[in-house]
Parts: sequence; structure tokens; C-alpha cells
Amino acid sequence: MLSTKQKEALGPLFPIADSVRRFYLRIKYAGNNVYCPCCGSRFKSFAPFGAKRRNNAWCPKCQSLERHRLLWLYLEKKTDLYTTPLKVLHIAPETTFFHFLNNKTNIEYCPVDIYPNLYPDGTKYFNLLEPDAPDASFDVIICNHVFQYIEEDERAMRNTYNLLKPGGWGIMQVPIDKSKQETYEDKTITTEAEREKAFGLKEHVRFYGLDYADKLRKAGFTVKVDDYTAEFSDAENYQYGFWKGDAVYYCTKPPR
Ligand SMILES: [Zn+2]
Repeated sequence: MLSTKQKEALGPLFPIADSVRRFYLRIKYAGNNVYCPCCGSRFKSFAPFGAKRRNNAWCPKCQSLERHRLLWLYLEKKTDLYTTPLKVLHIAPETTFFHFLNNKTNIEYCPVDIYPNLYPDGTKYFNLLEPDAPDASFDVIICNHVFQYIEEDERAMRNTYNLLKPGGWGIMQVPIDKSKQETYEDKTITTEAEREKAFGLKEHVRFYGLDYADKLRKAGFTVKVDDYTAEFSDAENYQYGFWKGDAVYYCTKPPR
């Protein structure tokens, strides 16, 4: 909820200020209308989030957003992640999932990122463009909101595919502009201000369109674009605080 600049201004006081603020918000949003599957909490509604203050978005307890709650249920109901022995590479590990997956006894959990200090303790350095792991090392790869930061995204997708074992699967979410068929990318846009305007955030280097699944297929994946929210009623979509129509990109690698 706070900007990076605000966090930096608070310095060492940030964790204290943040926990006080979240305590206040848990009281402000006390109620029973919505349910967060990530932390098992109920609230009157989820709190607003983002520059446009989207309603019913942010969990005051575990900080999950719409996409985290959707994925949490998807992983539980549609995959074997929570039950089968699996070696899992988690790139840019979301805090919401990190602690849960790290404690799962069926999982050999490998949380990584090129900037590990931005993630929970235990996250290791890993460069997706020069991966320090042999091909076919992982049963599952979770790589959410990563490719839009990488200039050489095709190479990163290919490497991700190579790291997956035959018969393995992955989740590869990115922000998608559904009004555009083709991904918007312009290498002459280089300043932070221009990138924020064109691609949504100053660190992003493109805005994917509906051709995103084809890019994953080009890397080798078999892709199922699964609109999981369609399996829920409007009332349930509200109760879970989903973003209706937010599809899950479920990617598989054929068995040998
Ligand atoms: Zn929560």
C-alpha cells in the first residue's frame, strides 16, 4: 500500500508502522462478507489497492491481492502441488505463498530471484537468463509477474521451459492488456516516466496482449488459458475478492 519512497522515508520504522497500520485496517474492515483463502480470514470487504484504488482488492491480514487468492484456490483445487512430492522452483516468490510452500513437507522448495533481498529470507540469487541449474531440474515452476521486467523475455521463457522436467507444469502469470491482440513493446521507450505511462510501471519493458499464450507456446510450452473465475458465481467472485475474467496460464511440458 505504501510507495517505495514512503517505505524508504520510514526506514527502520517501516515494519512497526506497517504492522500498526495493518492492525488498524483489520479493525476497520472487520466483518464476514469476504473470505481470504490464503490466510483463512474474513472481512467486511478487502481494502482498496493500487493507484486507481481498486475496491475489494487487498487482504489486511496477509496482504494477498485478487490474483494471489485466485491462484491459491487454483493450486489447491486444480493441481497436485499441495499433495504430491515435487521439486518446485518459485521465481520472484510472493510472500503470500512463500511461507506456506516453504513449510509443506511434500515440496522441495527453491525460492529464487535476481534481487533476492526484495523477497523473504531464504530466497536465493537466480538469473533466469543464465540459470545456474541443469535442464529438466524441476517438477513445477511458478513464475508470476516476471517476464514483463525482462528485455529478453523469449530467452527467459525458453530457459524456463528447459528447466522444467518432461511431464512437469508451471504457472506463468503476467499483466495482460485484454484490449490488445498484440503485445505492446517499444525499445525506444527507456525512461522511467515513459515506461510507467506506456507499460503500467516504471520497471516494465512491455505490456503483454492476448498473444501472450502464443509466446509461451513458441518457447515450447503447451498452454491452457484457464478462466477459473468463470467456475464461480458473481457472489463467490466477490466473496473471494477475485478479478473476474483473470485467467490462469497453466503451462505443461510434454512427457518424454
Ligand atoms: Zn489473507
